[in-house]
Amino acid sequence: MSKNGYLQIHDPLKPKGHAVGIDLGTTNSLVASVLQGKPRCLPADEGDAMLLPSVVHYAKDGGVVVGARARKLAPEHPTDTLISVKRFMGRSPEDPETRKLGHYKFAEGPGRVVRFEVAGGQPVTPIEVSGEILRALKRRAESHFAGKVEQAVITVPAYFDEAQRQATKDAGRLAGLEVLRLLNEPTAAALAYGLDKGSQGTFAVYDLGGGTFDVSILKLVEGIFEVKATGGDSALGGDDFDRAIAQKVFEALGQTSPTPSLVAETLAAARRAKEALTDAPEVELTVGGHRQRIRREEFEAWIQPLVQKTGGVCRRALKDAGVTAAELDGVILVGGATRVPAVRRYVAELFGREPLGDIDPDQVVALGAAVQADLLTNEDRQDEVLLLDVIPLSLGLETMGGIVEKLIPRNSTIPIAAAQVFTTFQDGQTGLDIHVLQGEREVVEDCRSLSRFRLSGIPALAAGMARVEVRFQVDADGILSVTAQEQSTGITQSITVKPSHGLTDEEVERMLLDSIDHAEDDIQLRQLREQRVEAERVLLDATKQLSEHGALLEADERATIEAALERVREQARGQDSHALKEAIHAADEASRPFVERVMNQAIRQVVAGRSVEEY
Ligand code: ADP
Ligand code: MG
Repeated sequence: MSKNGYLQIHDPLKPKGHAVGIDLGTTNSLVASVLQGKPRCLPADEGDAMLLPSVVHYAKDGGVVVGARARKLAPEHPTDTLISVKRFMGRSPEDPETRKLGHYKFAEGPGRVVRFEVAGGQPVTPIEVSGEILRALKRRAESHFAGKVEQAVITVPAYFDEAQRQATKDAGRLAGLEVLRLLNEPTAAALAYGLDKGSQGTFAVYDLGGGTFDVSILKLVEGIFEVKATGGDSALGGDDFDRAIAQKVFEALGQTSPTPSLVAETLAAARRAKEALTDAPEVELTVGGHRQRIRREEFEAWIQPLVQKTGGVCRRALKDAGVTAAELDGVILVGGATRVPAVRRYVAELFGREPLGDIDPDQVVALGAAVQADLLTNEDRQDEVLLLDVIPLSLGLETMGGIVEKLIPRNSTIPIAAAQVFTTFQDGQTGLDIHVLQGEREVVEDCRSLSRFRLSGIPALAAGMARVEVRFQVDADGILSVTAQEQSTGITQSITVKPSHGLTDEEVERMLLDSIDHAEDDIQLRQLREQRVEAERVLLDATKQLSEHGALLEADERATIEAALERVREQARGQDSHALKEAIHAADEASRPFVERVMNQAIRQVVAGRSVEEY
């Protein structure tokens, strides 16, 4: 126990072997570890590159190739070679972001996860693909240490939501890694620079990678980094610089419709030219017998509009965080594309100071993750850890159907606050029960109940109209307060609990292990409960519509709808979430003509009402 009686940062699961830090990047990934007190990135072999391209190729014979070799196979096997898979992590197939991305073949399958169809029909999920990248890094570290590597800190963008974080953790687990912690990428960069050693400060982290730009404003308060604001452009990065060069090459060649293989070749040459221009004032590029000299100033003029696009994003992030550039204590450069001298100059000008850039910007995140992994597992460093206390188990709320909605995930550093808006389920509902829970499992019975209270006096509105914001706040001493406020009237109720009260380390460990053992069952149970809630909503709504507008239906039409609703009722009593989902869908289909009639009638009434006023 730490000084304040709260659990220490390290996991109850005891350290084994070497712990590593992993930057699981969109374009490149790296693994690092603290060696003789210093973080270092680990190459595949002595003298090899540190960066592992985040590219996975699935061969027809079932083999899997990761890294530079996979990247070489991409132009020839575009659908069997997955690049930038991080963009799909934790996203559903219906997500507009998902639809926008890539040329991949998507496979059908159960659940709401993206599946790519590779190597003649085999479906793989982004989690599995990321798992392959992590496995390759784990192997690399194991060959370096000639021993097992089982624990890792993996970094994620600060803006990643719960689903994206969970997907990253699952990928780690698939690769046989115990994920000690997910660390925000900007925080990792700050740790690599040792900025946590100061007492306080506000920092901007400017991260320009291969295909994404992220800026984060971090505030250090007593050893804890809080993310004050994030911003970015998910379609802007060093690869766009390559495209700008390729564009000019095609112009010089008089090429208006290059073949896909010429495009791939030109982009690869453009990337080499761009990287060489970081150190040389002029380079020569050769594509298909064509030679072209490019001067750095020319290149800088071509990418100028792209670089300037980052400026607006940074200014907005500063504004969101409520600080000015002058109030910052430092600016950190992250991402391979910040090596471009024009980018460095632009950042210096934008923030009015020289950015910190002496740690290799494409290694800095992995190095910070290694520092954190060392902090979490190295017994000699426990004193330093005391500053960073965390929540040992997730904190959440009961929602409809007995499902637990987690507001603050386990291992969040404290102090921390999170809020979510809930609504009422029934027409005229004037009270909302707030049930606060702790634990990793998906349903209420399997978590620990911390407290219950009721917010009453909600104005009677139609179902779904009232808005109640529930705010969880854990202070630096680990005290949780929960506040529920109805947004239109401002009526408020709150309680205070100490979540760690009464839980021994062993109990925490058991709850965590349980959640791992039951992960699969839990998800199924959760899906069933979610579908039951949906069923109840559909039935309530249909009953209401039928009693109010039943006159719009012929007897046989009504019978069809009633029969479909009855099937929903039946399935809701069963255990098969899939069958229930289908029954709900069928009921929706059956009542669609009726719903349309009700809508049309409502529209006619509105139009009629208006014409009366007008004449
Ligand atoms: P991500 O975070 O997306 O995985 P990285 O931080 O590894 O990406 O950045 C990759 C980008 O950095 C690529 O566009 C790459 O061409 C670019 N890059 C790497 N080295 C250099 C260099 N020396 N000069 C300019 N750009 C570079
Ligand atoms: Mg990165």
